[in-house]
Amino acid sequence: MSTRQMAIMFDESIQMVDLHTQYRRLKPEIDTAIQSVLNQSAFINGPQVQAFADHLAAYVGIPHVIPCANGTDALQVALMALGLQAGDEVIVPAFTYVAAAEAVAMLGMTPVLVDVDPYTFNINPEKVEHAISRQTKAIIAVHLFGQCADMEPILRIGTKYNLVVIEDNAQSIGAQYTFRNGTVKQAGTIGHVGTTSFFPSKPLACYGDGGAMMTSDEKLAQQLKMVASHGQSTKYHHQVVGCNSRLDTIQAAILDVKLKYLSGFTQKRIEIASEYDRSLSSIEEIIIPRVASFSTHVYHQYTIQVKNGKRDALREYLKQKGIPTMVYYPASLERQPAFRGLARKVDHMPVALQLPEKVLSIPIHTELKEEMVDYIVDHIRRFFR
Ligand SMILES: *Cc1c(COP(=O)(O)O)cnc(C)c1O
Repeated sequence: MSTRQMAIMFDESIQMVDLHTQYRRLKPEIDTAIQSVLNQSAFINGPQVQAFADHLAAYVGIPHVIPCANGTDALQVALMALGLQAGDEVIVPAFTYVAAAEAVAMLGMTPVLVDVDPYTFNINPEKVEHAISRQTKAIIAVHLFGQCADMEPILRIGTKYNLVVIEDNAQSIGAQYTFRNGTVKQAGTIGHVGTTSFFPSKPLACYGDGGAMMTSDEKLAQQLKMVASHGQSTKYHHQVVGCNSRLDTIQAAILDVKLKYLSGFTQKRIEIASEYDRSLSSIEEIIIPRVASFSTHVYHQYTIQVKNGKRDALREYLKQKGIPTMVYYPASLERQPAFRGLARKVDHMPVALQLPEKVLSIPIHTELKEEMVDYIVDHIRRFFR
């Protein structure tokens, strides 16, 4: 079947993420929410911002959610509010989105790279302790692709060395972490502060930029709010040097609508992932994403590993069939020119170095139809036949 025939069959093409179809489905509610902001014209810090923050706090089960302008700011504001200083070291995973290491470096601190687990792609807790020096002040655990990093040993190391633990939860909102004693917590509510992004493709997303920080520590919540608002305690009274990082009222109104659908959206992606699991697990040359025993997976991405150097050939074959894919991420932080000579590493990081050659994320989103999933699976099978 040609790409064109396929487009006719599905009435639309397969996309990595389909924001437009989802919008059309939610249009009446979203349009009403946007219109009410326009009618009130409180574009900055309108009532919808706090309302959304309260609803999100209830959703994840944490007392304080502080909205901000984007997920990268959330990390930066968190580091500032926690009192970290230039020269401090912060441990970050070596294979991840750039934001964590970037926020650290932007503040004159040193990102210290630690290798990741080859099956969950998350920071390997066993490698963390060895990377700690006298300058180390924090660990940023990133919950990559939809499941939690192993927080319990990370918290234990944090306590032992008096480190702050930050969770970058931009990709895994709604995932649940289970402690060894059975206690369950939501991703982003486990460390001292959780950060997230509402970038349009994320699991909880607005129609522009947005982000938030969350904590159960009342004093830290005040500090986060102050730093994100020019360091002011009250208007025009500046206690610390802060920055300007706000969530637009219009975006908050959109997010408040979308939050009601988050569990349903997550469920939909989980169903697609089970179908992929069922259909792809028998292919010898693929490793399907593994879900750790301590976490649920919300499948922000469905990321396979392709063996025997066939990743790029598979990618090209699928492209010919009208199936988009992405390589998240094409290089470990160690190999990014921006961090050369800037990031510190203690050990070799074989997993983080190899994953960029093997990983391939295939379409998974709330608008992906069953026939599309079948079509994708069928072509992956054909490639390996
Ligand atoms: C998207 C993302 C961010 C950054 O979010 P922005 O809102 O784009 O600044 C940070 N960390 C991770 C893991 C992300 O996926």
